[in-house]
Amino acid sequence: MTHSPNHTDSPNHTGGAPRSLAVVGGGVIGLTCALAALDAGRPVHVYDAGADGRAAWVAAGMLGSLAEGHPGEDELLRLSVASVRRWRVLIARLGDPAVLAAADSLFVAASSTDAEHLATLAEFVWARQPRATDDLRRVDLAEIRRLEPTLSSRMHSGFLAVGEGAVDNRRLLTRLRDAFVAGGGQIVEERVDDLAGLDVDDVLVAAGLGTRALLPEIELHAAKGEILRLHRTRWSVPGPERVIRARVHGRSVYLVPRHDGIVVGATQYEPYDEQSVAPEVGGVTDLLADASELMPGIRTYELTEAGAGLRPCTADGLPIIRRVDERVVVATGHGRNGILLAPYTADTVMAVLDGATTDHDQVAASTGGVKR
Ligand SMILES: Cc1cc2nc3c(=O)[nH]c(=O)nc-3n(C[C@H](O)[C@H](O)[C@H](O)COP(=O)(O)OP(=O)(O)OC[C@H]3O[C@@H](n4cnc5c(N)ncnc54)[C@H](O)[C@@H]3O)c2cc1C
Repeated sequence: MTHSPNHTDSPNHTGGAPRSLAVVGGGVIGLTCALAALDAGRPVHVYDAGADGRAAWVAAGMLGSLAEGHPGEDELLRLSVASVRRWRVLIARLGDPAVLAAADSLFVAASSTDAEHLATLAEFVWARQPRATDDLRRVDLAEIRRLEPTLSSRMHSGFLAVGEGAVDNRRLLTRLRDAFVAGGGQIVEERVDDLAGLDVDDVLVAAGLGTRALLPEIELHAAKGEILRLHRTRWSVPGPERVIRARVHGRSVYLVPRHDGIVVGATQYEPYDEQSVAPEVGGVTDLLADASELMPGIRTYELTEAGAGLRPCTADGLPIIRRVDERVVVATGHGRNGILLAPYTADTVMAVLDGATTDHDQVAASTGGVKR
């Protein structure tokens, strides 16, 4: 098939008909954008090469905007805050409240040094997002114990981030596919090697690290991450209700609730030689040691999966969402935040596809006044 676009009429329509769209990549970014385009009335095909190397399947699913506020990453903080606000709408669209795995996050420091580190991050967020003082507040050990009694009594202090939780990423991917197919979208389980062969008006390349093979001018590198999935048995102590993001002896570890257990993550090796994506003994050992110190009762859980994935990263830490040429748009490079940033990305992609000169600034600002 060869491509024969008709670039007359409007950005949305070709000769009166809605413009067709091929989305290359069926990860969280591709599917979220595909659903948005379908809802906007476009005929949409998603082409996907399969689950191997799909970072969205491996991920923990945290929606951490305040948690992701690191000094020097002002723009990423802004995009993240804008995207968290959009999550409620996306979950309502999917019609399955159980996609949301936790509503809030609790940050915990194991020592006074770890507490200083967390305080530096919080100060940065408050300076850049003054309204966040309502949503991110200090908690002492007594409150940590009251909120999450299964955490160790040897923690130091922490912060509570209200309204910043997590989704069950695997359930999310299933629901996105279900909604897309139910709405008339087509999924083609095929790797795309040549964008020119797609017989559509517009193409969105959202293929994570696979984007590099299709658009060599897009520079990405991989950051490997190891992650564990634990299953609760009838003998296990109850898991946390919130996302627990901890700093333990200078290392980060998180516990993310699932209906049947806990996800423990994650290491980060960046940049990484992409030849081996198997989890390493050292990474798994560190995660288990830190998680056990944080929540001693975690020893009563079954370790059902030790996984590893590659985050598609850019040099500046910001996603690449832009037009490549008159037919092709790209959305990739979401690094450690692709799930969090999916709804924001879909809105930006739609604006770019529709011909607006929209960039991150305009789309992020478009919800600037909305309190989540
Ligand atoms: C250990 C770990 C933990 C993480 N935790 C979080 C978290 O808590 N919160 C968060 O927001 N993010 C998290 N992330 C990051 C997140 O997973 C990624 O940012 C996100 O998955 C990127 O989405 P994507 O759709 O761009 O890429 P992917 O999810 O990798 O999907 C890309 C898809 O494109 C397909 N593809 C590739 N090439 C082609 C081709 N040529 N033709 C057709 N299809 C193709 C692949 O088969 C794949 O299905 C984590 C990542 C890791 C590794």
